[in-house]
Amino acid sequence: MKAQVLYEPNVMKFETVDIPQIADNEVLVKIKTVGICGSDISYYYGHSPLGTADGKGPLIIGHEMSGEVVEVGSIPGGMGLFVPGDRVTLNPVMQCNACPACLNGQFNVCSHMLGVLGVANNGGFAEYCKVNYTHVYKLPEGVTYQDAALAEPLACATYAISQADIKLGQTVVIFGPGGIGLMMAQLAKSVGAGKVILVGRRDFPLNVGLKLGVDHVVNVADTASPYYAADLPAKVTELSGDLAERCMVATSNMNALQEALAVTGNRSTIVYFGLPGPEDELKVNVLEAINKDRILKFSWLAPGTWDTVLKAIAAKKVSLDEIVTHKFPLEEVEKGIDFMKNSKEDKIKGVIVVSE
Ligand SMILES: [Zn+2]
Ligand SMILES: [Zn+2]
Repeated sequence: MKAQVLYEPNVMKFETVDIPQIADNEVLVKIKTVGICGSDISYYYGHSPLGTADGKGPLIIGHEMSGEVVEVGSIPGGMGLFVPGDRVTLNPVMQCNACPACLNGQFNVCSHMLGVLGVANNGGFAEYCKVNYTHVYKLPEGVTYQDAALAEPLACATYAISQADIKLGQTVVIFGPGGIGLMMAQLAKSVGAGKVILVGRRDFPLNVGLKLGVDHVVNVADTASPYYAADLPAKVTELSGDLAERCMVATSNMNALQEALAVTGNRSTIVYFGLPGPEDELKVNVLEAINKDRILKFSWLAPGTWDTVLKAIAAKKVSLDEIVTHKFPLEEVEKGIDFMKNSKEDKIKGVIVVSE
């Protein structure tokens, strides 16, 4: 099969390699669409180590995958779980199922992670990928392969929104109008938020947010923008009558992480999602936080959300088409990664279309 193999930072080779041999408990999937995640960009440029034993390649990265089942191992086959031709998405995070966290369903903090497709094990930037049958989910009717490639980030966004515990009518400020922030904005409306205020630094994704049903957008960086506001807490108060009750931080920008504390009021909940650097620290005025009865949460991965996510896409509770702005063929993974990182063009999310 054709595959993009990452050998070391900045060295990815388009090669012919063996199609993975499946074990009795595995399923072989012909890959259709793979999302380019921010973490793929970090792995490619060597900003974060791979999940392999030595943190290095060679490895086929890409963990946001959809595809078609082509071969079924004897265990899932014997149970009649899958047949060739099934349209599926893959959950890349392989938990141990035996540690206390796993026994409580908190797979995101499993203490003996068996592997992660595209991070520690070969993943999706290839024509085929093998996966344990417990991590393959059939697509409901109406869910496209492109939608399904975004199921993984949507699952993470869904878990984060569930952490926010949004009550009917509440004002929600969302920092970061990237793919995840735009998913969170739609989910917040779906679960009953009153006003959703999306905060970013470029008008293009903020306009996509308005198209997807966000109530207000604020540009905190571009003074020429019609959405520009210098004083964000004042702007939130002007738009919603008060400081926000809920806040999602879907960016790694430390100013946003800090500003989340300034735009939220009494009995508010902030959910931190975007990954800052290893040395970054948040400054919290503890007395003020106590007096305001604040809740600060930190959301990681997506335990227990895949089923609802696929149903939500099928029920059109969230629209993903507007979020995918760029597509590249398997031959051009490096070009896609470079474009998503460095291009000044308007963009939100890129995907690799491996096969139609
Ligand atoms: Zn990802
Ligand atoms: Zn575990």
